[in-house]
Amino acid sequence: MHTVTTNYALSGWRGEFVDATTEQAYRKHSEAESARSLRRALLVWAALVVLFGLIDYPVLGHGYDFQLLFGWRLATAFVLLLLYWQLRRNPSLVSDGYAVTAAEVFGSVLFFMLYFLRHDMVSWVIGVVAIALLALFMFVPNRVHLSLMAATFLSGGMMVCVAARGLGIDKVIGLGFILALPTAVGFFTALRWQLAQRRQYVLLMRVVSSNRELQDEIKRREALEAELKRQATTDPLTGLFNRRQYEMLFQRERERCVRLGQEMTLCVMDLDHFKRVNDQYGHDAGDAVLKHVAQHLSCALRHSDIVGRFGGEEFILILPDTGLEQAVAVLNRLREELAQTPVPVRGQLLPVSATFGVTMVQPSDTDLEATIRRADVALYEGKGAGRNRVMTA
Ligand code: GH3
Ligand code: MG
Ligand code: MG
Repeated sequence: MHTVTTNYALSGWRGEFVDATTEQAYRKHSEAESARSLRRALLVWAALVVLFGLIDYPVLGHGYDFQLLFGWRLATAFVLLLLYWQLRRNPSLVSDGYAVTAAEVFGSVLFFMLYFLRHDMVSWVIGVVAIALLALFMFVPNRVHLSLMAATFLSGGMMVCVAARGLGIDKVIGLGFILALPTAVGFFTALRWQLAQRRQYVLLMRVVSSNRELQDEIKRREALEAELKRQATTDPLTGLFNRRQYEMLFQRERERCVRLGQEMTLCVMDLDHFKRVNDQYGHDAGDAVLKHVAQHLSCALRHSDIVGRFGGEEFILILPDTGLEQAVAVLNRLREELAQTPVPVRGQLLPVSATFGVTMVQPSDTDLEATIRRADVALYEGKGAGRNRVMTA
C-alpha cells in the first residue's frame, strides 16, 4: 500500500507548519472559511471608517480638513470593499495574506491623518489606535507574522507622527510602550489561535487518513473473503461448482421447485473416450479440453442452471424449472454444439463429444447421491448405445 508520511511539525513563533506543502494544504483546507470571515471583517471595517466620518463634521465643519479626511475615509472604504469583492472571486487571496496586509497598511494612514486633523481628541486617537491594533490581530484573519508587520507599521507611524508634532522623545517612547501592549496581547492571542487551528487540522487529517486505511483494509478483506469463498465453492481446474456447492444448490433449488410446483431435471455428462485424449495428446491437453468444455457449458446454459464438476471428466447439470422433454432438447443442442466444435489445443483441433444421462428430480429426491445414480444408469446405457447421445431415466 502506498502511504505518504506528512510532516506536521509546527513552528511556535510563526504559528505555521514548518513543512511548506503541509502549510499549503492547511491553507487550502481552511481557505473558504477564512475568506468568509475576512470578508465580514472588511465590511465592518469599511462601514466603521465611513460612519465615524459623521463625528468629524460637527467639529471640523464643512472646511478643507473635513473634506480631506472624509475623502480619505472614502478612499479607505473603497480599498477595503475592493478587496472584499476580489475575495468573492478569488478566495485564495486570503491564503498568502499579502493583499490583506497591504489593505491594513493602507487603512493605517487614516489614523495618522486623524492625529493631525482632529486636534480636539488626540488622546482619543491614541486609544482608538490601541483598539485597532487588537482588532487587527483578533478580527482580521491574516498570517500572524504579517499582522505583526502591519501592527508595527501602525504603531511606528503613530510614533513618527507624535515626533513630527514636536513632542519630546519621552512622549514618543511612552507611546511606543502603550502601543506595544495591545500589539503583544494581540500577537500572542492570534498565535495561540493559529496554532490551535493547525493542531485541530492535524487531528482531522489523522482521522481522515486512518479512515482511508480502514477502508482499504475493508476492501482488501472483502476481496480476500470473495477469493476464499470462490476457492471453497469451485473446482480449481474448471472454475465450476465443486461437489459441496452444487449439493447445497441442488437442495435449495429442489425445495424451491417443490414449493412453486415446478419441474426440475438433473443430468450427468461424461466425455467420450477421454482416456484417448490423455493418452494421445498428454494430460495437459486433457486439462485444456476440460476447461474448454466447462466454459462452453457455463455459456450455453441458463444463468439459473447449476453446472458442477462431478469427477474427472464428468459434469453435473441441474436445470431448475425445466421438464424432462425440455431438458432433452436443451442437452441435445449442447451435445451437438460440443461435437461440432473441436477444441483447439496447442495448434491442434481435438474432437470432443459427450454422453448425457438425464432424470426428473422428484419431490421425494432428497438424496442427491441416489438421484445421480439414476441419471448414471441412463448415461451408461448411452455409452453402451454408442456414446454422443442423450438418454433419459
Ligand atoms: P468413456 O467414453 O467410456 O467415458 O471413455 P473414457 O476414456 O472417458 O473412460 P473413463 O471415464 O473411464 O476415463 C476417464 C479418464 O479421464 C481417465 C483419466 O485419464 C481422465 N481424467 C480424469 N480426470 C482428469 C483430469 O482432471 N485431467 C485430465 N487431463 N484427465 C482426466
Ligand atoms: Mg468417466
Ligand atoms: Mg468418459
